[in-house]
Amino acid sequence: MSLLDATHDPALRSWVTSANTPDTDFPVQNLPFGRFRRKGEGQQDTLRVGVAIGDQVLDLRLAAELCPWSNEVAPLLDPLAAGDLAAFMRLGRPAWRAVRAALSAALTADSEQGPFLESCLVPQADVQMAMPCEIGDYTDFYTSIHHATTVGKMFRPDNPLLPNYTWVPIGYHGRSSSIGVSGQLLRRPMGQVKLIDAAEPVLRASSRLDYELELGALMAHGNELGSRIGMDKAEDHIFGLVLFNDWSARDIQPWEYQPLGPFLSKNFGSTVSPWVVTLDALAPFRQPFVRAEGQPQPLPYLDSAHNREAGAISIELEVWLQTQKMQKAQHPGDRLAGSNYASAAYWTLAQLVAHHTVNGCNLRTGDLLGTGTLSGPEPGQGGSMLELGHGGRQALTLSSGELRSFIEDGDTVILRGHCMAEGARRIGFGECRGTVLPALT
Ligand code: CA
Repeated sequence: MSLLDATHDPALRSWVTSANTPDTDFPVQNLPFGRFRRKGEGQQDTLRVGVAIGDQVLDLRLAAELCPWSNEVAPLLDPLAAGDLAAFMRLGRPAWRAVRAALSAALTADSEQGPFLESCLVPQADVQMAMPCEIGDYTDFYTSIHHATTVGKMFRPDNPLLPNYTWVPIGYHGRSSSIGVSGQLLRRPMGQVKLIDAAEPVLRASSRLDYELELGALMAHGNELGSRIGMDKAEDHIFGLVLFNDWSARDIQPWEYQPLGPFLSKNFGSTVSPWVVTLDALAPFRQPFVRAEGQPQPLPYLDSAHNREAGAISIELEVWLQTQKMQKAQHPGDRLAGSNYASAAYWTLAQLVAHHTVNGCNLRTGDLLGTGTLSGPEPGQGGSMLELGHGGRQALTLSSGELRSFIEDGDTVILRGHCMAEGARRIGFGECRGTVLPALT
């Protein structure tokens, strides 16, 4: 079954002219959803749901009110008009696809709906983005075998990749309360640190603060406790993807992580990008999922024909760092690394969902599944500073002349992502920014 339809046609152009520039993240083929307030509106004003188009946001409350829609589509817009993206996510893929088709037609050049929608646009520069929905439970996986091997070597030189890795999609339960949206200001965490040659740990501000380049999958609807989501249905439970920075304190982590896994080294903050790029928008960038020679094939509950044919998604990912000095000089920052989701990940999205529920665990609307740090196989494709700086032993020299082994106060970490494929229009994820503030000691 082809996942492609008229909304993916690379020839489509929009009457929103900024959506037609070749490097925009938000052409009419993308149509990602997010929640926003107009600048100047207060916390008491209800969040609105919008769709990014070029450098504008289409306000869906206004669009539902001011523009004529078909009888099929009008009721599907109700939750969006009410600012409730989670309620729209619960409607399921047929509804998402119907709305995507309607928005695509309405925003395409020469659409009869264009004149009604012009007054429903707000420049992105005039809005403040919020979390796309309330995040329920947050699970973080560990799907890059390259990240797992490099980091494993640092923690266990003789035994970098544990034998379960090639069989089990490894994950742990994180914390959702500290997940914030791009633009997040993050306090450097305090924690117990035990230096290798010290007899006892001390409480201090982390001096090895790091980012992790990840994607987050937003669950649209879940499953009953005690039931499973099979591979054939797994992708229908995912609404879309966001960029995800899983901030990590590398000096707190090694002292606390055994035997139960990461805890305070991770849960002090994570940042998501505000625009949810739907799986439907990502359809042209699908790739076969293949296991390298010599690697075991997944167990049957993690296997399907669709997963083998198109389970992977090619997404180019990047990490940028802008120091305070660069910011003052209006320098956009340095690109630290890049990787590709399809070649970084050992497990696909469908496999994460099938595995998470195989024991009957119930997922719910708004749950977020992190992919884990998406490092590629090559040097320069490390998805964390831990990897790029070889555990702090080799500082990076930035274009400003500054050195970095880990993230300093005032630094802004920016994640970006985009997709390109032959015969498809380039689409992007926008940005996921977070800035580190000094610790409260
Ligand atoms: Ca992580």
